[in-house]
Amino acid sequence: MFFLRKRNKAKIIPRAEHCLSRRDIDPDALKVLYRLASLNYDAYLVGGSVRDLLLGRAPKDFDIGTDARPNEIRHNFKNCFLVGKRFRLAHIVFGKKVIETATFRKAPNPNAVQDEHGLYQSEDNTFGTPQEDALRRDFTVNGLFYDIKTFSIIDYVGGLKDLQDKCIRSIGDPCIRFREDPVRMMRAVRFAAKLGFDICPNDIKAMKKFAHELANASISRICEEIQRLFVHGATERSIRLAYEYGLLDNLLPSLAKWMHESKEREAKVWASLNALDTLAQTQEVSNAVAFAMLFQPFVAETAETIRAKNAGKRSNLNHLRRIAAERVLTPIVKYYRFPRALWMTAVDILELSDRFTNRPEATSSRDVRFINHGLFPEILQGAEAFKHLFPNLSWQIDAWKRLYRSAGPAARHEADGDFVPPVNPHSRKARRRRPRGRRKPRAGAPAKQTAEASAPTQG
Ligand code: ATP
Ligand code: MG
Repeated sequence: MFFLRKRNKAKIIPRAEHCLSRRDIDPDALKVLYRLASLNYDAYLVGGSVRDLLLGRAPKDFDIGTDARPNEIRHNFKNCFLVGKRFRLAHIVFGKKVIETATFRKAPNPNAVQDEHGLYQSEDNTFGTPQEDALRRDFTVNGLFYDIKTFSIIDYVGGLKDLQDKCIRSIGDPCIRFREDPVRMMRAVRFAAKLGFDICPNDIKAMKKFAHELANASISRICEEIQRLFVHGATERSIRLAYEYGLLDNLLPSLAKWMHESKEREAKVWASLNALDTLAQTQEVSNAVAFAMLFQPFVAETAETIRAKNAGKRSNLNHLRRIAAERVLTPIVKYYRFPRALWMTAVDILELSDRFTNRPEATSSRDVRFINHGLFPEILQGAEAFKHLFPNLSWQIDAWKRLYRSAGPAARHEADGDFVPPVNPHSRKARRRRPRGRRKPRAGAPAKQTAEASAPTQG
């Protein structure tokens, strides 16, 4: 089907028949498009921005496709940098904004590069036509182009119909496309959650069959995509789809295994993520809060198990929660090398959120220290999510917010011009600031071997 479509002509939708207006395109992206067009190159808006604009959503970024070669782009834009080794991309920079401009790429050639498993190994570094560029993209709704010369939409892949039908469908055979790049399965789930679309049955079938291929994907890409599954306001749906289609078993096996054991556990995870989505309706939620909410039921149960095992001994529940959070999260974090600030903050949120069930005291140095802690805003946000999850507890969040306003970093900043606002103590910036001196050996720790002593002896 994929390669029959390739011979099909493009569907061209003139300006009068679609809703994508230049007014909604970023002015700097427009400048790049116009300049390329004035130099007689093809210049298309491509990918997610066309999809989002046709749906009336604000795109995250604006990518451009062109037949100009990377060097030609660089010659014509002073503010252009070429990046990438295998395939050179032009980054056209406007202040902090980057407009990614890519030369059209070729689709993989099935005859030349089919491997012993029937997979098409794509040679990503060969230039191609606009049609070939559309066909190498992941989903039909991501394969649409907007032509700046005619203001029309060019559809080589049936993306417009799928946009209307609210359907995520791979371009070509999903069994091949998902094995070529297993991360596409995570992208399918993310787009379905973010756009409120369904994934087409063929793609679901392929996902269930090839979810295990995620083990072959690069760990850094998976780490990034797991964080992108925390879709703003729709995390419950994206994690639920990932769980239903078997992706979660391969991404976060300990969590998925724990959930499979009872419906009650599943329901707790969905409730926790729903609380997160409710919070996201009113504010931008950090990934650490999302991470904490995803694992909260698992960590809470683990803490209870540890408490039951230590029955009779005096134990502080906060401390147990920290031990449980570290026990649950450490293997995952080590495997994917999640940013330290992300998971340490999540552990702190899991440990400390219930401090917000007590009223703060402006005279308590402990409470004032807490609001001036670099993590306070995120722990507070975590507590707000917990408030939606445990509405029966008497949360004192407003009182803490008042104290934060009156005695927190901003108030101190006003009173004392030299004051440096606190940073997340787990962030790289904070760690860089820490003095580097040699650590004192712990009492009882074995003495470190010298180079001489550790050198292998001969004979
Ligand atoms: P978002 O709104 O999340 O940025 P997006 O569709 O713009 O969504 P990007 O990751 O920015 O997603 O990628 C831009 C475009 O590049 C996609 O729309 C798609 O056409 C193409 N693309 C990205 N990743 C892949 C992939 N793994 N396989 C094929 N095409 C891809
Ligand atoms: Mg994008």
